[in-house]
Amino acid sequence: MAEPPTATATAPRRALITGITGQDGSYLADLLLAEGTEVHGIVRRRSSASGLWRIRHIRDRIKLHEADLLDILSLISVVESVRPHEIYNLAAQSFVPTSFAQPILTAEFTALGVTRMLEAVRLVDRSIAFYQASSSEMFGLVRESPQSEATPFHPRSPYGVAKVYGHMITVNYREAYGLHACCGIMFNHESPRRSAEFVTRKVSEGVARIKHGKLERLTLGNLDARRDWGYAGDYVRAMPAMLRREKADDYVIATGKCHSIRDLLRIAFGRAGLEWERFVDADPALERPAEVDHLRGDASKAKRELGWEPEVEFEQLVEMMVDADLERIGLKGESAPGTDVRNG
Ligand code: NDP
Ligand code: GDP
Repeated sequence: MAEPPTATATAPRRALITGITGQDGSYLADLLLAEGTEVHGIVRRRSSASGLWRIRHIRDRIKLHEADLLDILSLISVVESVRPHEIYNLAAQSFVPTSFAQPILTAEFTALGVTRMLEAVRLVDRSIAFYQASSSEMFGLVRESPQSEATPFHPRSPYGVAKVYGHMITVNYREAYGLHACCGIMFNHESPRRSAEFVTRKVSEGVARIKHGKLERLTLGNLDARRDWGYAGDYVRAMPAMLRREKADDYVIATGKCHSIRDLLRIAFGRAGLEWERFVDADPALERPAEVDHLRGDASKAKRELGWEPEVEFEQLVEMMVDADLERIGLKGESAPGTDVRNG
């Protein structure tokens, strides 16, 4: 076994991010580059480069390695060649409705993928610090409100169940093998880089398309759901903050404020000078087989121990997303999801 990696004055800290092409991976890469960390990312093979739109602006400053959460040999090989000080495991099948349609694939990526990453760390070098992207969807049918690190889990989707597995296997490797492994139990966080199928981005893009005359009506599912929504740029700050503490632990990251889909619609359409009631339909076909009705997190431990606090308020977040989509669609016309023209 080779020597464990240590950051020195001459050798900068190296971080490996799985899911670097996703929303959080791209913001985390921005943050780590700004502090001088050498950033490596895992990407899976694609037939075109359009999936790299979120990291296009930093493409020449990061190193990408081809691997897949399904293929443990590829993961071991990347960890062995990069020898990172830190791994941020953000890759997952992250969309709840897809987890109902493809529950087994979701478990392979979002649950067993975590064990594959942890095994790569255990086999290559146990001194590598490991961050796992846990989710408020683990609380599901909430037992108490707000939800903290001590709240019992009751997931309501194959995604939530897979995240509970990923969370508990990370805790287990910490306890069983002494890995420096942390879980950030993150509540929903959004941005102009959010994938278009999540409700905030679906609404901001819908508003922009309606405003520019490219869409007549927006169809949503359950309008009664409530979430604790924050800004992704704020949330990624908590990841290195928890991973670099002496003692590895788990932290809830949330704003502590809960808003409804109707609040989201009012602010988003209002930003474009529109009344949402005139443009939105609710279709029961878009409702989920089991729903998470409301989530609100208690991040007081993160505030106390990490000094972490969110900076962007919900209204600011929604307006930022609507403005970005209004500009993008106004400038470029309607583009297919995942093309390079998105900003954020
Ligand atoms: P995204 O869906 O935007 O990104 C997911 C990333 O995982 C993409 O880079 C994707 O690559 C990659 N990926 C998926 N499958 C594989 C695979 N088999 N092998 C390698 N890479 C793969 O998610 P977010 O950035 O929003 O979230 C980051 C993490 O945080 C996820 O684990 C998510 O479940 C979790 N989380 C997110 C929350 C949120 O509100 N955003 C809340 C709580 C937890 P590709 O580009 O090729 O598809
Ligand atoms: P999630 O919390 O990770 O599932 O994030 P989403 O943004 O996908 O969903 C948040 C909430 O919005 C859930 O309770 C959904 O049921 C609700 N919702 C209502 N209409 C829609 C819709 O059209 N698309 C999505 N994605 N969610 C919707």
